[in-house]
Parts: sequence; C-alpha cells; structure tokens
Amino acid sequence: MNAQVSSLPCGVVTFMDDGVIVEANDTLAQLLGYAVDELRGLHVERLLTVAGRIFYQTHLFPMLRLHGRAEEIFLLLRHRDGSDIGALSNAVRVERNGVHVTDCVLLQVRERRKYEDELLRARREAEGANAALAARTRELEDTNGLLTTQAHELEQQQIQLEEQTTELEAQSEELRVINEDLVARSEELEQAREIAEEANRAKSQFLATMSHELRTPLNAIGGYAELIALGIHGPVTAAQLEALDRVTRSQRHLLRLINEVLNLARIEAGRLDYRVDTLRMDEVIASVVPMVEPQMANAHLTFSYTVESGLEAAADRDKVQQVLINLLTNALKFTPADGCVTVDAVRAPDGQSVHTRVRDTGIGIPAEKLASIFDPFVQVDSRHARQAEGSGLGLAISRDLARGMHGDLTAESEVGVGSTFTLRLPAVALGDSS
Ligand code: ADP
Repeated sequence: MNAQVSSLPCGVVTFMDDGVIVEANDTLAQLLGYAVDELRGLHVERLLTVAGRIFYQTHLFPMLRLHGRAEEIFLLLRHRDGSDIGALSNAVRVERNGVHVTDCVLLQVRERRKYEDELLRARREAEGANAALAARTRELEDTNGLLTTQAHELEQQQIQLEEQTTELEAQSEELRVINEDLVARSEELEQAREIAEEANRAKSQFLATMSHELRTPLNAIGGYAELIALGIHGPVTAAQLEALDRVTRSQRHLLRLINEVLNLARIEAGRLDYRVDTLRMDEVIASVVPMVEPQMANAHLTFSYTVESGLEAAADRDKVQQVLINLLTNALKFTPADGCVTVDAVRAPDGQSVHTRVRDTGIGIPAEKLASIFDPFVQVDSRHARQAEGSGLGLAISRDLARGMHGDLTAESEVGVGSTFTLRLPAVALGDSS
C-alpha cells in the first residue's frame, strides 16, 4: 500500500471473500492498536465486536455479494484492548487479478457517536416526557370524566333540592293556613270559655239566690209544724203527730239539701272566705267526735281515732270540721252494723302535709265509680243513697273546701271491704307554731 493511502485520515482495509485481510493501512492499524503486519492474514471479523460480526454476516457481506457495494454502514470495531470504536464504512467488492476482494474505508465517528448518544438520550428523555405527558393526560381525562359525573350528580341533586324546596314551600303555606285557622279557633274557644265562665257565674249566682229564697219558707214550714206538734193550736191526735213528724223530717232533709246547694254555689262563685290558722289536729278531731260517736254506737259500729303528737295543719278550722263530719257521716251511712270506723292523722313522709284518713269497713265503692263520687249529685247506688238520705253533694263540697285550703281529698276503696278517704292539708313545720 502506498504511503499516501497509508497515511490517509481514514482506515483502509482489503479482505477477501473468505474474510481474510490482505491489506490494511497504518491509520486503521493505529486506530485498532495493531501493527499493519499483524492485521494481514487476520480474519476481518476479528476487528469487529460481537454485534459488529453479526451485522457483518447478516447484512454487510450479503449486500456486497448482491450489489457489489455498501455505503455509510455503521460498524462497531474492536480495539485490541477490547474497547469499542464506532466507524462509518464504505465498501466495494471488486475483482482484482481474478480474485474477489473487498476494499473498505472506515471513518471513525467518535464525535458523531457522541452526538448520536446525546440525541438518543434526548430522544429517550423526550419519549419519557411524552409518556409522562400521556399518563398525565389520561389522568386528567379520568379526572375530567369524574368531574363530569359529579357535575351531573350535582345537577340531579340540585333538581331534587329544587323540587323539595317547592314541596316545603307548599307545606309551609299549608301550615300557615292551618296556623291561621288555629289562631282563629283558639280565639273562638277563648270567647266560648269566657261565655261559659260567665254562664257558670250566673248559674252559681242564681243557685245562691234561689237557695236563700227557699230557706225562708222552709224554715217557716218547720217552725209551724213544730208549733202544731207541741199542741199550741189545740189537741193533736197520734196520727196527726206521726204526719207532722214526717213533715218535719222532710223539711229538714230539704233544708239540708238547700244549704249544701248554697254552699257549693258559694264555693263555685269563689265567694267563700278561708280563715287559715294553725290547727292542732288532735283538737280538731276531738271536736267532731262527739257529733258522730252516739250515732256510731246506735249503728253498732266500733269507732276510734289516733293523732300523731304535736301534729299541726295550716287550715280553716270550720271547713276542716265540715269535711271531717261529712266523711264520718258517710262512713256511718255506708258501713253495716258491727263494722269499724277509724280516723288517724299523720305527717306525710315528705313533712309537707298532714294526712287525715277516715277508714271504714263498709260496702266500698266500685273502682269505675271512684273518680266520679267527687262530682256534684253523684251517688253510687241511688237505692242505698235514698235510704241513707244523701244529696250527692257532700264529697263535691268537701273536696272543693280541701282544695280551697291548698290541700286535697282522695279516696281508695274496695267493694265489700271498705273505703279510705284521705284529707291532705298543708303542714305547719315543726317549731313554726307560736
Ligand atoms: P251523699 O250525700 O250521697 O253521701 P256524697 O257526695 O257525700 O253524697 O257521697 C257521694 C256518694 O259516694 C255516696 O252517695 C255514696 O254512693 C258514695 N260514698 C261516699 N262515701 C262512701 C263510703 N264511706 N262508703 C261507700 N260509699 C261512699
């Protein structure tokens, strides 16, 4: 190889079809770390990397055989020390002296490779960025889809809310109308109540006046009957005396009835005054006992009473006496012979009230009647009541009186066993009384 070719700034090699190198220039030998002599006789594949060899066998060599030339083929050469050297090659296959040889020029592409590497890296980065962008785009599309769904849902909810609002508005309008109606009715009721109260006051007033008016002639009837019975107006026969006795008994009954009606009317009209004192319960009870004890004995009833010592109530003495007499008279009326009537007065466990209980072992009151016996004119058994000469007003008056003194009157009873009436009155705290 001439000196000019030897020192060309590119590698030159000639090899035969069997790959054996016949000639190489200095530039190539230096590039690959050999001496030119060492290259001669070497197989050209020795100068290639594994990848380069494969490329040579599958592409370069077939191309040379087919077309007689190959241009701008990139080959990875192998330096003697094992390192790679990239080179661009042009090759022609020619016949020289009757033998096919290939002349090959190899141009090192260090700079170009560097750029290619960078390009590759940049491309990879770009591809990476592109993939990231695609992923992000997908994410955004997903988010967008989600947002669209949510927006749709929100729209639906808004429609629902609008419907509910309309419904609520309709209901509130209905309620407003109902409310107006209620206000109007409550005003009507208030008026009706005032009218009823007025009527009740008028009724009580009427009863009070009538009772008073009736008492005067009734007292006269009683007085004259007594005078006749005493013989003031001449001799009286036994039959007449008996008739007069009936007149007097009826007159007394009527008078009692009228007195009670008058009493109730006064209470209802709120015209009763209460004189509240500190009452020693033992004294009050002792004061009514003589009024009932003889009749108890007559009726063959055992009577007894007990009072907790020092027990005092804040109440009106006359009214408490009236209530107790009424309860005791009832016990007397409704307890058959050989029964028992007892009174006991105790301080309630809370210390706030005094309980005076009147018990009997009488006929009792059916449970369903127990609540109504405190209503005016109520008698459980009219046959029995008539026989017992009642008015049905005693308990109504007694409970009104008890309540008028800030107390109450209640009943417990069992048919055939007996009844207990409890009068509750405000207690005077121990040590309060003077
Ligand atoms: P009356 O004048 O008829 O006794 P009251 O209002 O005092 O009126 O009593 C109403 C009714 O309650 C009585 O007619 C009677 O049926 C019933 N009653 C009251 N006390 C007793 C009692 N101790 N035992 C049974 N029944 C009673």
